Amino acid sequence: MNIKNVTVIGSGTMGNGIAHVFAQFGYQVALMDLSADALQKALETISKNFDRQIAKNIVTQADKSAALTRIKTFTVLEQAATNADLVVEVATENVEVKHKIFTQLDQFCPPHTILASNTSSISITRIAAATKRPEQVIGMHFMNPVPVMKLVEVIRGYATSDAVTATIMEVSRSLQKTPVEVNDYPGFVSNRILMPMINEAIYTLFEGVAGVEEIDTVMKLGMAHPMGPLQLADFIGLDVCKAILEVMYEGFGNPKYAPCPLLVNMVRAGHLGVKSGRGFYEYQGKDMKVATRFVK
Ligand code: NAD
Repeated sequence: MNIKNVTVIGSGTMGNGIAHVFAQFGYQVALMDLSADALQKALETISKNFDRQIAKNIVTQADKSAALTRIKTFTVLEQAATNADLVVEVATENVEVKHKIFTQLDQFCPPHTILASNTSSISITRIAAATKRPEQVIGMHFMNPVPVMKLVEVIRGYATSDAVTATIMEVSRSLQKTPVEVNDYPGFVSNRILMPMINEAIYTLFEGVAGVEEIDTVMKLGMAHPMGPLQLADFIGLDVCKAILEVMYEGFGNPKYAPCPLLVNMVRAGHLGVKSGRGFYEYQGKDMKVATRFVK
């Protein structure tokens, strides 16, 4: 299937990156969010990220200008959806929010439109059930930061068709990404493996086996990870890590996925990582130091 017009619903951390790469590789992009302010902020971020790519000789100034003209912004879903060949939903990680958006998309998009979600953990089969076209609903899970990271985890819901999966694999390759096809079970592959490791790192700290820097250093220097698991958790957001672990805990009914009590407490305290300025580390501008107090 020929995909030309792509609608991106949600222009936050991931949505602006997804709009960026589609525009970079020649697609017409309709970027939708609830407020003009959010969209303005997203366009500024996209512009800054293109400047970074220009500084690294990945794109030219002319590429940037052409890409930006391909992005149109909308605050009304119906207007953003009517011409879409593909929609990528990148709104807040909340099942009710996503259900409502997919019900509306099913109503306003043409019959051929493929409906994808960038969800980190919500079941694609469950999201698809909000529509009358579950065979055209699929997961397209980009990684943060989207313009840099090469992986797209392509998640087949219970009813997703072979043709739709093949199209999304092809579209991902056209963005110079490497797609990997996986089935729809809690955490998919990426978070099923990553989140238990992060949770175990938090338990290691909680039980006093070692400190924050020590745990991260072991994993960086010993296992060649570019970032330690506690720093990575801060980067992802501790609330997001907790939410994903809870989806896996509920989905498998297995206590091994239950979030560590220290993670739960930190989220309750509003220490969410980089976005709140404090998680396992404290962040001030580009400086980062271990946040002082971690006790049982
Ligand atoms: P975010 O909070 O930065 O952005 C979400 C955006 O969605 C906000 O701008 C919000 O205004 C908008 N929004 C909420 N309801 C909406 C609606 N009804 N219609 C249109 N826009 C709406 O969140 P994010 O980190 O970009 O995450 C978005 C999705 O991507 C989530 O499903 C998340 O699980 C997934 N994801 C996040 C990451 C990450 O590292 N942050 C990585 C992979 C996948």
